[in-house]
Amino acid sequence: MLGMLRVKKSAGKINIRGRLLSDEPMAAHTTYRVGGPADLFAVPADSADLAALLRFCHSEGIEPFILGGGANILVSDRGIRGLVIDMTQINRISINNDTLQVGAGLAVSDAAAWCADRGWAGLHFLYSMPGSVGGAVWMNARCYDGEIYEVLRYVDQMHPDGSTTRYLPRAEDFDYKISPFQTANRVIVDCGIALTAADRETLWQQMHSYRADRESKGHFAAPSAGSVFKNNRAFGSPSGAIIDRLGLRGLRIGGAQVSERHANIIVNTGNATAYDIDRLATLVAEQVEQQFGFTLEREVLKVGEW
Ligand SMILES: Cc1cc2nc3c(=O)[nH]c(=O)nc-3n(C[C@H](O)[C@H](O)[C@H](O)COP(=O)(O)OP(=O)(O)OC[C@H]3O[C@@H](n4cnc5c(N)ncnc54)[C@H](O)[C@@H]3O)c2cc1C
Repeated sequence: MLGMLRVKKSAGKINIRGRLLSDEPMAAHTTYRVGGPADLFAVPADSADLAALLRFCHSEGIEPFILGGGANILVSDRGIRGLVIDMTQINRISINNDTLQVGAGLAVSDAAAWCADRGWAGLHFLYSMPGSVGGAVWMNARCYDGEIYEVLRYVDQMHPDGSTTRYLPRAEDFDYKISPFQTANRVIVDCGIALTAADRETLWQQMHSYRADRESKGHFAAPSAGSVFKNNRAFGSPSGAIIDRLGLRGLRIGGAQVSERHANIIVNTGNATAYDIDRLATLVAEQVEQQFGFTLEREVLKVGEW
């Protein structure tokens, strides 16, 4: 509570071109459609705004939460104390030779479509995956035999003092759902992505097949954050297959339900709370642990005041 009062009191020191809101409901910014209010919610209009916000946080001793598309987070019902920085307006896009230069806040699927329209592959495998370019890099998102690290040429990153440096990816920094940004206090601002010339029609056919595959798995049928548990096959099968063996599809707590169509997805059936979703994920993990002795690792990040 003290933190909340302090951050709101200092809000007058923030001077940006973009929007600054108080008590913004996070449910409006997450694909689960749950989450209580953020004390302060800023939408920087450009990198200068972002630098001003980071400097504010630095001087006030506040750790901001950087929001991409909200597609891999579970925000608590109590919400987030402090400042949320919504990256969606950092969304410029251009091509320089065979490198895509793209702002971290652009939806990764929109970036893939923009490139495909111009006959470039690179991000195509992420078409129709929810979330931003920055979130995909932070998570080292992967699907359909691709992971974003493989096409990442550089990241322009901002530090807490507002300065920017260019990071060049190194193989040892990335792994399954691991990127160096998870352990460093840096904001992904712009990304360079390696592009390959491709036939537009063939590329779009492939991308439409990815979307159709996601639709067939019910990805867009109800609010979710995709896979709840990491799927690194350390247990010999995907996490969904293990959960399936226990017959947990359809299991409910409150408004949260293990998807009938994919056992590693928990959906919000309409009136779920973050607490419902969290309890259901815990219950599933407990059952897997008891029956098989495997410890499932959460992929969806718990954010805010729990
Ligand atoms: C229906 C559905 C299907 C999905 N399928 C897949 C899939 O096939 N493969 C897969 O890998 N994931 C999948 N996901 C999960 C999700 O789409 C990815 O994890 C995505 O990359 C998250 O991006 P985001 O922008 O939404 O990140 P958010 O959820 O907003 O944030 C995730 C983390 O990244 C940090 N972050 C975000 N942007 C920045 C930035 N610019 N700088 C610094 N930190 C930042 C946040 O602080 C947070 O810690 C799916 C989700 C849904 C809802």
